[in-house]
Amino acid sequence: MRILVIADIHANLAALKAVIAEAERGGAIDRIWCLGDVVGYGAEPGECIDLLNSYPNDTIAGNHDLAAAGIIGIEDFNPLAAAAITWTKTQLSPEQEEWLRGLPQTHVEHDFTLVHGSLRDPVWDYLLSPSLAEVNFRRQNTPYCLVGHSHMPIAFKDIDGRIESEVPADGTVFDLDGVSFVANAGGLGQPRDGDKRSCFAILDTDAGRLEFRRVEYDVELTQAKMREAHLPPHLIERLSRGR
Ligand code: ZN
Repeated sequence: MRILVIADIHANLAALKAVIAEAERGGAIDRIWCLGDVVGYGAEPGECIDLLNSYPNDTIAGNHDLAAAGIIGIEDFNPLAAAAITWTKTQLSPEQEEWLRGLPQTHVEHDFTLVHGSLRDPVWDYLLSPSLAEVNFRRQNTPYCLVGHSHMPIAFKDIDGRIESEVPADGTVFDLDGVSFVANAGGLGQPRDGDKRSCFAILDTDAGRLEFRRVEYDVELTQAKMREAHLPPHLIERLSRGR
């Protein structure tokens, strides 16, 4: 099975299309695993939901998805994120809102646990430190865990109780050889590591490998759509910088 692993689409349709096209260049995608935040920040939330749902997928709820679905309030969001969520709510069809409302906060499939933040706090934790990775490993009942939320490609491996961190680059491969890890492939729709290219990963369950990838997308097109929607300028400009 060939699974496309993505996180933090954030209503960036051009990025989602570019990632799917690049993934399909290497062969058919059997399934998509999406680690949350399909919507928020960007200008095409409904289109992203529909494109994602044109593939078999397991999608986890992110904080922006929960807020757009009205399950959590916007008071814990910064003002720009809150403004984008308020706008997003006006853009969704009842079916799209219902789909967001039904998303689970964790999902276990094969040897993997999927969660947006961490297994300590599925919605809000930024899993960026070895100490939080250790907390996560204690709650992880599968060898491997995939997360989103920080928009940063980063991974932690549990080498006989010692936590090692690693920043996966384009082309980095993790072999599924029993060494436990928790990994974030990075942000698809709003990368924050200083590289504006979209992040994704390809999991090949037959070959037992997870490959981290980057791909260029039409940043200007996404920014033009955001300008048309009068979304906050900072959210538009940061896509050029990838942070
Ligand atoms: Zn996000």
